[in-house]
Amino acid sequence: MADVVNTLPFFYGNITREEAEEHLRHAGTASGLYLLRQSRNYLGGFALSVSHSKRCYHYTIERQADQTYAIAGGKSHPSPVDVIDYHSQETDGLVCLLKKPCNRPKNMQPKIGPFEDLKEKMIREYVKQTWNLQGAALEQAIISQRPQLEKRIATTAHEQMPWFHGSITRENSEPRLQNGSRVNGKFLIRQRDQNGSYALCLLHEGQVMHYRIDRDRTGKLSIPDGKKFDTLWQLVEHYSYKPDGLLRVLTEPCPRPDGEMGRPLLPRNHPGLGPTLQSAAGGIFSMIKNVPIPGITKKPTPGPRPSFTKDLNPYESKEAMPMDTEVYESPYADPDELRSSKVDRSHLYLEDGVLGSGNFGTVMKGIYKMRKTEKTVAVKILKNDDDNPAVRDEMLREANVMQQLDNPYIVRMIGICEAENLMLVMELAELGPLNKFLQKNKQTSMKNITELVHQVSMGMKYLEEHNFVHRDLAARNVLLVTQHYAKISDFGLSKAVAEDQNYYTAKCHGKWPVKWYAPECINYFKFSSKSDVWSFGVLMWEAYSFGQKPYKGLKGNDVMQMIESGKRMDAPLNCPEEMYELMRTCWTYKTEERPGFSVVEPRLREYYYDIAQ
Ligand code: ATP
Repeated sequence: MADVVNTLPFFYGNITREEAEEHLRHAGTASGLYLLRQSRNYLGGFALSVSHSKRCYHYTIERQADQTYAIAGGKSHPSPVDVIDYHSQETDGLVCLLKKPCNRPKNMQPKIGPFEDLKEKMIREYVKQTWNLQGAALEQAIISQRPQLEKRIATTAHEQMPWFHGSITRENSEPRLQNGSRVNGKFLIRQRDQNGSYALCLLHEGQVMHYRIDRDRTGKLSIPDGKKFDTLWQLVEHYSYKPDGLLRVLTEPCPRPDGEMGRPLLPRNHPGLGPTLQSAAGGIFSMIKNVPIPGITKKPTPGPRPSFTKDLNPYESKEAMPMDTEVYESPYADPDELRSSKVDRSHLYLEDGVLGSGNFGTVMKGIYKMRKTEKTVAVKILKNDDDNPAVRDEMLREANVMQQLDNPYIVRMIGICEAENLMLVMELAELGPLNKFLQKNKQTSMKNITELVHQVSMGMKYLEEHNFVHRDLAARNVLLVTQHYAKISDFGLSKAVAEDQNYYTAKCHGKWPVKWYAPECINYFKFSSKSDVWSFGVLMWEAYSFGQKPYKGLKGNDVMQMIESGKRMDAPLNCPEEMYELMRTCWTYKTEERPGFSVVEPRLREYYYDIAQ
């Protein structure tokens, strides 16, 4: 959304209310003259400034939980621009109709907020330090979890501000403010309890004033009767430029005592920081929370953590990210774990209970004792069927393909174990196939589905880049590690293709998942990443229809005829328009006109960020 809004000529970015009034005055204060700016107190929100009868009126356009936008108490609209369009027809509570946009002067760009500027570096540093990631794993984590990371950074950024002193008592805060410089407006914030309430302590004429900062039921922070904010750093920014009910503006952050500072994250005078964020730039990222999520095993993180970062406060999201799980990185990413494709049977314990079964036999849960750690794993066990050596060959081929792949969104093979049976030891994705999960969890949100489908597209983009074709991409072959983490599995039909040819020709028609296959697969036995894109379109259809079977009631032949006649499946009920459009693009008849995953993934990414941020 921010990208689209940034291009609007009447969007000014992160300017203050006073600056907005100045622009409107400058443009003549005609009734109905308006401009749009970024909200300085609500994350992802906007503010509309309108002039009427020589006065300026300001309305917050909040982003709501369902990703729509509305002026408090007003009608919801898909975007802030729609809010403006609506109010140019209907006052509906506004002081007047919106008549004329007050455009930015030539050569003036929307003002970038202090946080926007810091964000990129903060996210990178946060991912590096929290999960100890680097290289491709780091990049993939940022791409797939950007909306969650931005939110986490925004809501925990105060922890690296020098003015945030953690949960010290009122009595302890006073000497800190009285020590050293005693300039009016010197301040700190302390945590009062674990329910998300804080206190702002401010030095005024040699005395320390304490203002309570409460959190309301929706999670917004405010000084009693004061303006509400999503984050502490927005509150501090606000009271640093006007007192707005305080005895005076905040001037100088009171530094934490020595030893409570971590290593600097950014240079102290990083350009573009507001006065209070500026001194915060010598941050303490190592303090940012690292909270174990139930059922998720955390990797050890580097460095000691100061004691005042307790649990995430209840208003922050506890949703597990892929990086919180054991299977985000290969176990062999740790140099102490020697990579060997052979698994020693004495190090593998099979547990009771079957995860699934197929042609070859069963899949069981197990524990694999590695050098340093024990991993819970999935073990595909070939049934002892001497009559059918082909199944054994197929399993070995599958293992051979999997062994060459290393991506967070693909089930990795840990090794092969040849014992009483041939066993393929893989990463465990305990929540099982995506189609079954969605059939059972119909309340799963569109955002959640899009997050998972986007992860699949990331895994497929990796396969495309490494010249592998999957040939059996379907929702049943996407396994879930958590509700927010999908991995592509089942490489039984997969092939490596020559770089210069980039397709594989099957010798004969096999037991094929025809409903997922592109026309060239069926007509010419020709398989490429582009035919995987077709299957991906069907997978998207399955996901947005909560695991329904595609082309319900039709036989393979009927489906082929339907496709040849130019018809395609209808959009699933309530499927976002953008996503149906993308499915249709994946079902482009001619291979050469069909996009690859290098195009599909960024399109999904863009839509996902749009609805999730
Ligand atoms: P076939 O080889 O006949 O095509 P299949 O495709 O059903 O069989 P898999 O998908 O490899 O075989 O495995 C069958 C089932 O086992 C899956 O549907 C899933 O429920 C479970 N399973 C497979 N791999 C894993 C895994 N890594 N983690 C958790 N469960 C798994």
